[in-house]
Amino acid sequence: MNARLRTLVASEPARRGSGVPIVEKQGLMRSTNDEIASFAAGMNPPDLHWVFACECGAPKCTASVGLELPEYEAITADPYRSVLAEGHVASPARRARREAAELRDSARALRGQAELQRDRAQRLSALLGRGVGGEAF
Ligand SMILES: [Zn+2]
Repeated sequence: MNARLRTLVASEPARRGSGVPIVEKQGLMRSTNDEIASFAAGMNPPDLHWVFACECGAPKCTASVGLELPEYEAITADPYRSVLAEGHVASPARRARREAAELRDSARALRGQAELQRDRAQRLSALLGRGVGGEAF
């Protein structure tokens, strides 16, 4: 785990504790939009135009944004972009949160790979009838 990741993960509960509903709402809107997108992706015949929720995170924002599915996918592929209604601005916290989430995901993926490798090594060593220590991890 690198120092940057540790800092971001460590600061997460503090941020939540200080009550930042904007960030919570942004995350909620993104998961709503992801659900819309995955529903949209499964449509047959494909219907490309969908209405997504604005992700600015403002407590009173109920704006929606009309997007083609590929446009939405292009936005979500970029961690620095959000689905925003015209004139709405994403809070800077959004970016920090997405970066933290991405670092967490890649850390999780790496840990998963390491565990797989370790399991494989242990199975192999059992087959070979000799111990393989876990010192590599
Ligand atoms: Zn908005």
